[in-house]
Amino acid sequence: MSHILIIGAGIVGLSIGRSAKRAGHSVTVLEQGPVPNPQAASVDRHRMIRYPYGAAAGYTRMVSEAFGAWERLWADLGARHFENTGAIAISLERGDYAEKTLATFRDIGLPHDVLDRRAVEDLCPHLTLPKGAWGVTAFPGGPLFAADIMAGLARWTAEAGVTIESGARVVALDEAEGRVTLADGTTRSGDAVIVATGAWLPRLLPERFGTLPVYRQALVYVDPPADFAESWRRAPSIAVIGDHTGYTLPDLRGAGLKIGYSAHRRQAMPDVAGFEADLATESAVILGAFRPYFNQFQAYRPLRMQVGYYALHPSRRFLFEKTGRSLVITRCDGQMFKFGPLIGERVVAMLDGHQSMSDLARWAAGE
Ligand SMILES: Cc1cc2nc3c(=O)[nH]c(=O)nc-3n(C[C@H](O)[C@H](O)[C@H](O)COP(=O)(O)OP(=O)(O)OC[C@H]3O[C@@H](n4cnc5c(N)ncnc54)[C@H](O)[C@@H]3O)c2cc1C
Repeated sequence: MSHILIIGAGIVGLSIGRSAKRAGHSVTVLEQGPVPNPQAASVDRHRMIRYPYGAAAGYTRMVSEAFGAWERLWADLGARHFENTGAIAISLERGDYAEKTLATFRDIGLPHDVLDRRAVEDLCPHLTLPKGAWGVTAFPGGPLFAADIMAGLARWTAEAGVTIESGARVVALDEAEGRVTLADGTTRSGDAVIVATGAWLPRLLPERFGTLPVYRQALVYVDPPADFAESWRRAPSIAVIGDHTGYTLPDLRGAGLKIGYSAHRRQAMPDVAGFEADLATESAVILGAFRPYFNQFQAYRPLRMQVGYYALHPSRRFLFEKTGRSLVITRCDGQMFKFGPLIGERVVAMLDGHQSMSDLARWAAGE
């Protein structure tokens, strides 16, 4: 049995904590805020899991593995925090994300359906698409209810005997010794130290990660026109429309209809830019991107914004880097929530010698 010290109680830290505990290790999780921390990227009402991943065959395959890991988590939690709406990628022009997704699905033999424009509009009567548009759907897919998952994981790990310290901000890390120093000057040690600090990594390890690009991303919750409230609930979650970077998550289990537009992000650090948002101007930008496609566009009413931060590398690949006793997990992008429990299982398999670090790093990079 080893002692595993984990910095950060987001989906990555708590998932590794759960898997390490299940494997018989003693585990401590250190979190600078409350657990779960509402400022963590992992905390929102829902996050999407979807097969459409463009040309990224490695991550498409990883989604299948991720569903297996979610099933094992539901068994632990005694609840299934997921609705299988399926996910749709809509193509607007040659060579776009949906077309690449379809080529990947065909290459790796992933079951899917291709729908012409009329069929997509029948499935999604809230949309009007340009001539020539088409869609590809894949199941399962849809909303993971993130707030419930995080609360359930925090409870499960604590009850299983993981030591969870909230208000425990780590200010220094000795990677060779596996020792951390907290803001109050006390220290903690582990045989392995997992650094799962999300957007705050450049603050903890500025020499190695000071220039890592961190982005602020805001999403908007909306009230749809009454005519389409039900169709939004029944339709597949939209993973992408063309190369437009817009996506939607349905109002199921009272979560609210959420609209994202990945292009509405800017480089910023959470401790500098904060978590406030301007509902009127930011929602106008995000919703405005959907103006050509939403029926009764003027009737959509913005309700609230959700702000989060993540580290994003231009390669769009996760980075797992081991130095001495520490393992840094970073570049989680706007993509890691769906893989959280799977990452927990894989990292602990590596710590227990069932997989090499180089294989784990290659797999995490989607190779
Ligand atoms: C707006 C938005 C939308 C997204 N949509 C999706 C989606 O639809 N599907 C999907 O799969 N992914 C999505 N993502 C990405 C996903 O949410 C993140 O990649 C994932 O949650 C990252 O998890 P994490 O545990 O690495 O980081 P976080 O959840 O941010 O957790 C890091 C934790 O570490 C703590 N911490 C930081 N520094 C210290 C320190 N020095 N000492 C102690 N504690 C510290 C923080 O307080 C925080 O609680 C989205 C992200 C955002 C922001």
